[in-house]
Amino acid sequence: MIIIMLGAPGTGKGTVAALLEGELGYKQVSTGDIFRKNIQEGTELGKLADSYISKGQLVPDDVTINIVASRLEEPDVQEGIILDGFPRTVAQAEALDDILAKKGKKVDMVLNLTTPEEEIIERVVSRRICSNQQCKTVYNVVMNPPKQEGICDKCGAKLVQRQDDNEETIKSRIATYMEQTSPLVEYYQNKGVLRTEEVSQRINHLGKDVADEVVRDINK
Ligand code: ADP
Ligand code: ZN
Repeated sequence: MIIIMLGAPGTGKGTVAALLEGELGYKQVSTGDIFRKNIQEGTELGKLADSYISKGQLVPDDVTINIVASRLEEPDVQEGIILDGFPRTVAQAEALDDILAKKGKKVDMVLNLTTPEEEIIERVVSRRICSNQQCKTVYNVVMNPPKQEGICDKCGAKLVQRQDDNEETIKSRIATYMEQTSPLVEYYQNKGVLRTEEVSQRINHLGKDVADEVVRDINK
């Protein structure tokens, strides 16, 4: 089963993907996480990715597509995968379709998350993430703070803020999304695999609710 998480930054793709991984057993593969790991380790890929990510721009398609193509060959994702943050351009979506077609597979579900822009900005600037790569639990210092400031409830590791989670960069990330990623809504709508869910405090419908509903429907 191939599931794609689509949506502007800060809509909760990572949160929903992690919950779906726990419930369905398919690996969450986040291109953003792959880039951040490489930035931390100071690899060549990390240096290249950082020059785009810090400006709120997309990493070039050829680089990103190659990473995902090789990840899709690994044994742990043959039964299914939850792609979190990929594809983000029409070229990436077309490349993914080609890769999957060669394996006799296709995209089964595209979960398109939407959130009002003011809420995205609030959410992103108050987001903190567990620095333990095995944990990566997401907190919000306003809505969902850890019990002890700066420390992960689950594993005790330090919480960190993503460098691109500041007001200036989130605005360019949203603009990049509008320009380059939002055409994918129609792309997948036309393929009949799109499922749109609003994730918002305002309607009291959060990532956890979306994950529960999707799991219920898949297990039906
Ligand atoms: P968010 O959705 O909150 O922006 P991600 O972790 O998915 O967070 O992505 C962080 C950054 O990594 C993006 O702003 C972009 O620069 C880069 N990135 C992630 N996925 C892709 C992709 N599929 N194509 C190009 N760049 C990507
Ligand atoms: Zn943790």
